[in-house]
Amino acid sequence: MTETTEVYSAHLPGFQETAFIKGHEEYQALHKRSLEDPDAFWAEQAEKYLSWQQKWEHVLEYDFPQGKISWFGGAKLNATYNCLDRHIDTIGEKTAYFWEGDDPNQSLSLTYKELYQKVNKAAAALKAKGLKKGDRVVIYMPMVPELAIAMLACARLGVIHSIVFGGFSAESLANRINDCGAKMVITADGSFRSGKTIPLKNAVDAALPNCPEVENVLVLDRCGLGLTLGENESWWHEVMADPDLPDYVEPEPMDAEDPLFILYTSGSTGKPKGVVHTHGGYLLYAAMTTRITFDLKDDEVFWCTADIGWITGHTYLVYGPLINGLTGLIFEGVPSYPGFDRFWQVVEKYQVSKFYTAPTVIRSVAKEGAAMVDKYDLSSLRLLGTVGEPINPEAWRWYYEHVGKSRCPIVDTWWQTETGGHMMTPLPGVHELKPGSCAQPFFGVDPVIIDPDTGEPARYPNQEGVLCIRKPWPGMARTVFGDHKRFIETYFSQVPGMYFTGDGAKYDEDGYFWIIGRIDDVINVSGHRLGTAEIESALVAHRDVAEAAVVGFPHPVKGQGIYAFVTLNTGVGKTDEIKKELVKMVRSEIGPVATPDVIQWADALPKTRSGKILRRMLQKIAAGDIKEMGDTTTIADPSVLEQLIKERVASTA
Ligand code: ATP
Ligand code: MG
Repeated sequence: MTETTEVYSAHLPGFQETAFIKGHEEYQALHKRSLEDPDAFWAEQAEKYLSWQQKWEHVLEYDFPQGKISWFGGAKLNATYNCLDRHIDTIGEKTAYFWEGDDPNQSLSLTYKELYQKVNKAAAALKAKGLKKGDRVVIYMPMVPELAIAMLACARLGVIHSIVFGGFSAESLANRINDCGAKMVITADGSFRSGKTIPLKNAVDAALPNCPEVENVLVLDRCGLGLTLGENESWWHEVMADPDLPDYVEPEPMDAEDPLFILYTSGSTGKPKGVVHTHGGYLLYAAMTTRITFDLKDDEVFWCTADIGWITGHTYLVYGPLINGLTGLIFEGVPSYPGFDRFWQVVEKYQVSKFYTAPTVIRSVAKEGAAMVDKYDLSSLRLLGTVGEPINPEAWRWYYEHVGKSRCPIVDTWWQTETGGHMMTPLPGVHELKPGSCAQPFFGVDPVIIDPDTGEPARYPNQEGVLCIRKPWPGMARTVFGDHKRFIETYFSQVPGMYFTGDGAKYDEDGYFWIIGRIDDVINVSGHRLGTAEIESALVAHRDVAEAAVVGFPHPVKGQGIYAFVTLNTGVGKTDEIKKELVKMVRSEIGPVATPDVIQWADALPKTRSGKILRRMLQKIAAGDIKEMGDTTTIADPSVLEQLIKERVASTA
């Protein structure tokens, strides 16, 4: 199998001198210490990043087989005290958030002090509705500042928030509300997307008859739809304007191990899990990874494009930046509205320094050509990041050259909802960059590749296996809400004594890690194990290809065959000539064993609402098993799926 040997220097202008971690030697020494003496290492970080009301009794206690993990047990703190109160005297006038609306003419900014005032008001309002420590609130809102305010108001009271991404259907919403037993739902009348008004409250109305535990609904008037509210429903602006509400609410002292939030995974592989994160460990890990991975300086503007409804938004749009007193950007819109140049226009407008997005976004804008980027002055950018899926080297290079102008490092951050923050990533100024590799572990992270056949650690470079983590880190999830058994079964029983990630991976001669796809997606062709990411990268390297998804399907001779769904760039004709070229490319890039058996053109690929390709659905289409598609509630645009099924049926008819 061919290996990418392409390496980009770590020595990009500006980082060597000023980076928080100065060079590879310092990284290695610190990483070593973080594993050898985690108690001392993390106690130091905990003092540095957070303000505690009461110190811990122990730093770490754990028992993986029981799924028990405790960091800083006995310590007391509050998330919003750390995000807001402690900043007011020093940086109260600093911008906490810029907000840019879907409509380019709508924007605003909030200082730390303003955010603090609004969070206190909102906390007072929730308290007046009877909410208290340990209660659950589901937040189902568009990307507006009130979303962050609602979450922080919950955290101030010790109320556990569970954000459900605004794109989910009534059914998905009801499932999540009931799963966590929420007493209140906070929503908006609607949301704006690509210039259109999308109703949101409708879904809440449809969900609530099936959610007996919900007592109150709070509705933000985002779109002026003029809705009439029902009993136990109130307008956000009316509630907040109540003159009897106090301006200040005491932040609830929380044990480090008390839950901060529940968040459902994106569900690319099955029924979403209600992952629980804590007040202490999660916040520390969020704070440190934000600072170090992005090498964020106090005067920089950080734009994480993820929706707050995903873990990436929780950690890198809300908790991480605020704890560090940084300036973040919340963007309500999409990369394609009013035009495919929107992102770069926003970067220029706010002089964004560090930019963090997903491969799916990069591919979707790259598809429209580099001229869309070249129009703008992107000289404020200093670093780029990616998360969510393996990034194809082709997309990586496009991002590096056209967005970063070959002077910004790209941090390819591998992590999961369950890990709370970055687990593996290159650090700027420290790591050389290899397109498609997430480089090396963050501090405190001890990854290992396990051979699925023997259960033993991989013994040599490039041996593919399952990625596991040997030791706890502060940001790791503590349980699956209401189902600790599932937590143990999913993460701690596959490989005894380790955290099981479910991702296939390998490391190379330089100790760089490569994620090769979900373990369930590794295709076994005549005894050869092939990662879907590798084949997809080879396909996407073709100049006419925008995106590709590869899955296995039952093959009478080879065991599994290779089925590729390919999306071409805008304006390119779907010819057999291109199919032939694609086959040739895969054969020469990876080898004849990886030759696709079937290539199906796809105008678009089915994705989760967070933009991940839904391979389990493509597997069904490839297998011709199209009667029962399983749980389709996580899919963003069902018509994409219908189209693919129709064409699949037509091809065999
Ligand atoms: P579910 O667990 O319900 O199937 P999910 O795994 O898609 O959903 P997330 O927690 O949002 O939910 O995604 C984490 C997964 O995303 C990782 O396990 C990995 O497969 C993939 N991933 C994230 N970042 C990267 C990256 N930088 N490179 C490669 N893969 C990544
Ligand atoms: Mg997962």
